[in-house]
Amino acid sequence: MSAAYHELLDATIQHLENLKSRGVRHVAVAPETLRALAQPAAKTAISQFPFSKNNPTATPASTTETAIPMPPKKTPAPVQPEISATPVPPPVTRLSSRDKAAAFAALRERALACVKCPHLAAARKSVVFGVGNIDAQLMFVGEAPGADEDEQGEPFVGRAGQLLTKIIQATGLERKDVYIANILKCRPDTPGQSAGNRPPTPEERATCIPYLQVQIDLIQPKAIVALGATAVEGLLGKTLGITKLRGHWQTYRGTPLMPTYHPAYLLRNQAMSEKRKVWEDILQVMEKLEMPISAKQRNFFLKA
Ligand code: URA
Repeated sequence: MSAAYHELLDATIQHLENLKSRGVRHVAVAPETLRALAQPAAKTAISQFPFSKNNPTATPASTTETAIPMPPKKTPAPVQPEISATPVPPPVTRLSSRDKAAAFAALRERALACVKCPHLAAARKSVVFGVGNIDAQLMFVGEAPGADEDEQGEPFVGRAGQLLTKIIQATGLERKDVYIANILKCRPDTPGQSAGNRPPTPEERATCIPYLQVQIDLIQPKAIVALGATAVEGLLGKTLGITKLRGHWQTYRGTPLMPTYHPAYLLRNQAMSEKRKVWEDILQVMEKLEMPISAKQRNFFLKA
């Protein structure tokens, strides 16, 4: 079974334990979920969860729910971070919106309490989990929170983030229409420095990436834009270099992935030609998503 499934299971157990510690003794479970749980383990993986659109035998989530006792307290086995390039296929079906929202909330709660990188946990102000629409067709993945993101708890809110927002708006979408996350959920610490950023280490990346993998598996976007070398390496394990990879479709566990430059690069290099490259990558994404593209949009950043 996939690491994503185990992550979700782990998150669910954690969520139930949190409820139990708050005195909750029963949870409401739909009859279809109980039936699915009664199946042999292999049949209850995310990809075959009931109420999914592609499951012909599924019925809509019922409003009649059965109270079941909380499971006995159990310490979940530590999950080994999955190597990012492992070609695990994504789930083929979708959870009901209610189950998906619950799984997402449980994952978020778990990430917010994460101390797997003690040095980052000690230095952070926030865990920057991600923001946007969990049903988005389009996901943007960056590197790691900077100082502004750490302060506000939201990805891409600093200068580079403002540029990303403009790029999103240039497509006709808003930030709330897409989902935005990073490879790392905590700001990389810079001990002894009052300012500045550093890229995540390979160990930090490998420790944190399971959260992003489950986010992607739950959202099931139609396309992912990987912003910069760290995002590409983190998701694909490729070190070919962003200059060579940008503009060329890749695949992340079955989902089309477009590598492009990080907005911070565009802030450093203001040349029209570089802006146009990023825009051409975004145009490819818009085409993939069958979004309407006006003549004006096609010509953005072309010299007059
Ligand atoms: N750069 C990133 O890669 N992510 C952020 O959230 C902010 C800046």
